[in-house]
Amino acid sequence: MKDLLGGKGAGLAEMTRIGLPVPAGFTITTEACDYYFKHGRRYSSELAKQVKANLARLEKVTGKKLGDAKNPLLVSVRSGSARSMPGMMETILNLGLNEASAEALARNTKNERLAFDAYRRFVQMYSSVVIGLPKEELEAKLRAMKERYKMKDDTQVPAAGWRDLVKEYKEYFRSKTGKDFPEDPQEQLWGAIGAVFESWMAEKAVTYRRVEKITGLLGTAVNVVQMVFGNTGEKSGTGVCFTRDPSTGEKSFYGDFLINAQGEDVVAGIRTPLHLDELARRMPKVYKQLERARTLLEKHYRDMQDMEFTVEDGTLYLLQTRVGKRTPTATFRMAVDMVDEGLISKKEAIERIKPEDIERLFYPIIDSSTSRQTLSSRKIASGINAVPGAAVGKAVFTAHEAEDWAQRGEKVILVRRETSPEDVGGMYVAQGILTATGGKTSHAAVVARGWGKCCVVGAEELDIDYGKKQMRVDGRVVHQGDWITLDGNEGAVYEGEVKLVMPELPDAYQTLMKWADGIRRLGVRTNADTPHDAAKAREMGAQGIGLCRTEHMFFKDFEQPEKSIERQLAIQEMIVADNSEARRKALAKLLPFQRRDFIGIFKAMNGCPVTIRLIDPPLHEFVPHEREKQKELAKKIGVDVEVIARRVEQLHEANPMLGHRGCRLSITYPEILEMQVRAIIEAAIECKKSGVKVLPEIMHPLTLDRKELQILTDATRRVAEPIIKESGVKLEYLVGTMIELPRAALLADQIAEVAEFFSFGTNDLTQTTMGLSRDDAGRFLPDYVDEKKAGIFKTDPFQSLDIAGVGMLMQWAIERGRKTRPKLKVGICGEHGGDAESVKFCHKVNMDYVSASPFRVPIARLAAAQAVIEEKNGTKR
Ligand code: PEP
Ligand code: MG
Repeated sequence: MKDLLGGKGAGLAEMTRIGLPVPAGFTITTEACDYYFKHGRRYSSELAKQVKANLARLEKVTGKKLGDAKNPLLVSVRSGSARSMPGMMETILNLGLNEASAEALARNTKNERLAFDAYRRFVQMYSSVVIGLPKEELEAKLRAMKERYKMKDDTQVPAAGWRDLVKEYKEYFRSKTGKDFPEDPQEQLWGAIGAVFESWMAEKAVTYRRVEKITGLLGTAVNVVQMVFGNTGEKSGTGVCFTRDPSTGEKSFYGDFLINAQGEDVVAGIRTPLHLDELARRMPKVYKQLERARTLLEKHYRDMQDMEFTVEDGTLYLLQTRVGKRTPTATFRMAVDMVDEGLISKKEAIERIKPEDIERLFYPIIDSSTSRQTLSSRKIASGINAVPGAAVGKAVFTAHEAEDWAQRGEKVILVRRETSPEDVGGMYVAQGILTATGGKTSHAAVVARGWGKCCVVGAEELDIDYGKKQMRVDGRVVHQGDWITLDGNEGAVYEGEVKLVMPELPDAYQTLMKWADGIRRLGVRTNADTPHDAAKAREMGAQGIGLCRTEHMFFKDFEQPEKSIERQLAIQEMIVADNSEARRKALAKLLPFQRRDFIGIFKAMNGCPVTIRLIDPPLHEFVPHEREKQKELAKKIGVDVEVIARRVEQLHEANPMLGHRGCRLSITYPEILEMQVRAIIEAAIECKKSGVKVLPEIMHPLTLDRKELQILTDATRRVAEPIIKESGVKLEYLVGTMIELPRAALLADQIAEVAEFFSFGTNDLTQTTMGLSRDDAGRFLPDYVDEKKAGIFKTDPFQSLDIAGVGMLMQWAIERGRKTRPKLKVGICGEHGGDAESVKFCHKVNMDYVSASPFRVPIARLAAAQAVIEEKNGTKR
């Protein structure tokens, strides 16, 4: 239903069905929008007929007539697509007003002020939205009128003021368009329908869909609904509420409302709204009804709802309900609470979590060691804590500049008086968002919350000057480019860069992840090269290391950084050496370093398997290419600089990624393999002796043939066995291979005769299967992914597995490999191991584990659980 009626239309229909008070109306489907764009922006003849019939019905139900001089019907014409796109598309209110019907409305309501305020709003919206006249000029006329009448608030303006403004707007309209403002309500209606359709393709809406990865929708629906008025006086109002707190997830009724206000006033954030408690005090009956709607809607939708309502002279109307956006912390809390309340099952709770929800939990907060004095001396303003987390960046005052600066690699905070949907591009790239006006349901807050992005709104002391690109508060001035810090938990704004740290995880996160772990079949390991990363990954739930890239240890001593140079020299000496003996001598210097590294990692992973990959990158990556650096090295290792230059020249390859790398290095220089295997085995024995459990898995990279792997495996065991025997310790270890080349995948049955495990290196396997360079494809690959350009792939195959092609090879390799060796252990250690969709594929093809970078371990755990649920539900991928 949502696909056809859009979220808003479907919500209105559902609310009507369950007996909640909803104003009368009808919805034009998204199919009509699709038709409009597919037929050169024309409506179908069917649509004209249906709108006529439904309008007649609406007139009958309400007993009023559009544009009537006696009893006029007023409607709102609002957009609404299947996926929520807050504020991205258009709305027109009070449609049906003209000279005659405005007078009638004034008479019937006995409220001339209301009637002409409604009329000016309509003329204003119609002029800007349908005709495209500049909003600022219309606003300027409004301000000028208020000045003339010496009124600050809109609510104080008398009827005469609104009458004047309508006249001025109409004159302006004529001067700009050469035509009179339309009096005919039919013309008004079709103009509005067209404008809503057009807003589907407006730049901001297209950008939003791209950023949010919203694809496959037909368009927007159009809701034509009888107007109700929140601005008829003190017994009226309009508001937005959430069935639970969208920031914390707490089960408390949460919302903002304005007395005597209409339409989008709350969302626009122009006036600072009141809390719902105040509504309970002022209009207890309405509040009770709203509470009832809250309970009914949560039960019905089984999720937190975000509702819009209007009160007209003490009568409540619900204008919209939709699943509310929430912070990541709230996402987890609500999911777990709803399971406890019996509203949803554990499986549903797991299904509701998206990879981004997890990622965003790990957003920073202000370091608690920062002293109170520091904070209070730096505090320049406080506002409303709209979205938690903290952010540091350079202040910029326009969305476009935010985008430009971010593109240059700058961290920015977008500062605006208020945001509007036009700003969404700049909001997206900003570290955080700060506005001078608005409440927790303002545009800035709603959009930022959806992204889990730190946001402070309603910081009213800020005097923002777009012209001068600065903001001023209490004599202090922040210029564009100055650092500021936002605290979205407290709603505070600080000068300069305040230190941020990562937050503690909410209890609900641990609970939900435990549920996920309880149902997943796939193991989840991590890619880690240092004891520190290994320990971090354990905290994140890793059950072992799926890839330890040993070459990183050649460059850097992670525990004793001052020793890094010694390691580099040893490896460089080894590379420059021209005979095996000299190489062995150099490698002997490296051995104790590697052994220490492995001891650290085994300890951090106590009891979990650790897959260690032997050297992989081409040797030229380890030696200097510039003459000056070569001279330095020559001096340090006591050889002539020409010797080094010649060696570097020899190592040069046109295609190093397809060259002398991976296990090919160990075929040529078996002494490297020998040193690394010795380091691993000796480290394992030492750990075992001290009571640390170890499960080493020695992995050869870039294998392409059975015999090649046989030679390497023999060499591995020739080193390992005597060391183990001599130690008297019982040590088990595995020897296996990465599958990174199509040939290896195709001949997996033969390779499995030797390999005790496979680990798919899908970075290289994607590169070699697709013939796309990992290093250079970024220059043109975006065109392959962009729907508006070639659109050949849905996602970047280096980020999310190309299931059709690379996936087919993987499936083949697993089946073939297990035919030879039924217990063959299979995993993945390419970047795809932390991508939710790819993880689900790995589950489907019966891998034993996936391996992801430490921060993506929880994403993999969750995706692995979701894969089981989808399998049980029979959900198609
Ligand atoms: C791979 O190719 O997928 C892999 C994990 O190895 P690397 O990225 O180090 O080449
Ligand atoms: Mg690789």
